[in-house]
Amino acid sequence: MTVRVRFAPSPTGYPHLGNIRTALFNWLFARHHNGKFILRVEDTDVTRKVEGAIETMMDSLRWLNMDWDEGPYYQSQRLSLYQETANRLIEGGYAYPCYCSPERLEAVRREQMRQKQPPKYDEYCRNLTQSERVEMEARGIKPVVRLKVPHSGETTFEDLIRGQITFNNDTIGDLVLLKSDGYPTYHLANVVDDHLMNITHVLRADEWVSSTPRHILIYQALNWQPPQFAHLPMILGPDKSKLSKRHGATAINEYREQGYLPDAMINFLTLLGWSLDDHTELLRRDQLIQHFSLERVSKTGAVFDKVKLEWMNGVYLRKLGIEEYTKQAMPFLERDLPPSVTRPLDIAYVNQIMPLVQERAKTLAEIPQLVDFFFLDDLSYNAHMLVGKGMDAAMAASIIEVALQKLTTIDTWDSQFLESYLRQLSTNLNLNTGKLFSLLRTAVTGRTATPPLFQTMAILGKETCLGRVRAARDRLSTLQ
Ligand code: GLU
Repeated sequence: MTVRVRFAPSPTGYPHLGNIRTALFNWLFARHHNGKFILRVEDTDVTRKVEGAIETMMDSLRWLNMDWDEGPYYQSQRLSLYQETANRLIEGGYAYPCYCSPERLEAVRREQMRQKQPPKYDEYCRNLTQSERVEMEARGIKPVVRLKVPHSGETTFEDLIRGQITFNNDTIGDLVLLKSDGYPTYHLANVVDDHLMNITHVLRADEWVSSTPRHILIYQALNWQPPQFAHLPMILGPDKSKLSKRHGATAINEYREQGYLPDAMINFLTLLGWSLDDHTELLRRDQLIQHFSLERVSKTGAVFDKVKLEWMNGVYLRKLGIEEYTKQAMPFLERDLPPSVTRPLDIAYVNQIMPLVQERAKTLAEIPQLVDFFFLDDLSYNAHMLVGKGMDAAMAASIIEVALQKLTTIDTWDSQFLESYLRQLSTNLNLNTGKLFSLLRTAVTGRTATPPLFQTMAILGKETCLGRVRAARDRLSTLQ
């Protein structure tokens, strides 16, 4: 048997972590078993369709390198298949047309609520005679089609993650299969397609678990073999409630815009509900494929931890070769450096800078702000930043004056030489190196925390550094 799984998003919103985690588990399962991963768009709820949602979904899958083998199939282009199946169910006595108006259904529901009963269709149309049906049709009423759900007995299935799950049939109610406009409901279209597409395993979010007995009843009525089911644990926020924006989770394309790497995302998302053992956190894509199994998917909710995601992304960023790192960083620099910086950026210059930040950034989007002073003509910072601890403005000014004179005389402008020269200078001045270095750091970068000072100065070059030290001297004079 070839494993065939599907990811079946509805285009009712932009993809979030939960959608992508579902796609990912299907994809890993397919790749692990050398099976097929199918993309199917469940777009039969026309009223809830969000423009661009599917394109964004496919973009996200491509970005994460989750390639699909078939599809996208669109359910909206397969309506006749569902209609034929609904008719077949009516002919077999497993389904019936229902002419009840929304007003009547609403009244029934309200009455049930009043009597503290769970809402359920009261089967008014289940036993209409042929002539009653003809009459309804003659009045121009377009029916829905409902499944005849048995009143007694149970529907049971073996969930590959959660074990045996049983529902009492009398709690289910005669569900709608086909709407009056000829569109199928999720239940009918989902079953028909899983059957016609030879889906062997349905891996989907936990929230669909109560739909599964309905689906199984449809399979039984059609005399089709149901696929196997596995319901994936819910993703929770740290407070154990359902994951939402409030927990720092956002639409998947925002992670891309914030500079998360696809491989880090894949690693992180797989661990939202799956584990190799009780300690391994870092797994490459090929290792995830090799080890993925439903046996190690947890039954309980998986907690989303944004700090862990950032940490993991930092690890993946540091593992990149410097060329790849620079290549990944480039679009973020182009996008986020201040507009005054001339584009396109000088690649040779960027190449020099990137090794200095590779250890520091947790996301690609952090890089531009870590390095913007390399690109700016004028720094803007508060003059008080130049006055370090245990100093006053006059002292800072005199130190900077000496440093300026000395630096002017240097010919060899590389980081090693600068370091030994400036260390020597601080000894000569009988000045703590920290004081001198932090003053210079602020002067040449406008920041108090930066990449290593001497390498930074070497890349900036003598001209720029001297200009900035002079500007710092002028700033300090305004404080005295
Ligand atoms: N269209 C459903 C969704 O949006 C698919 C559920 C399923 O996989 O059966 O999640």
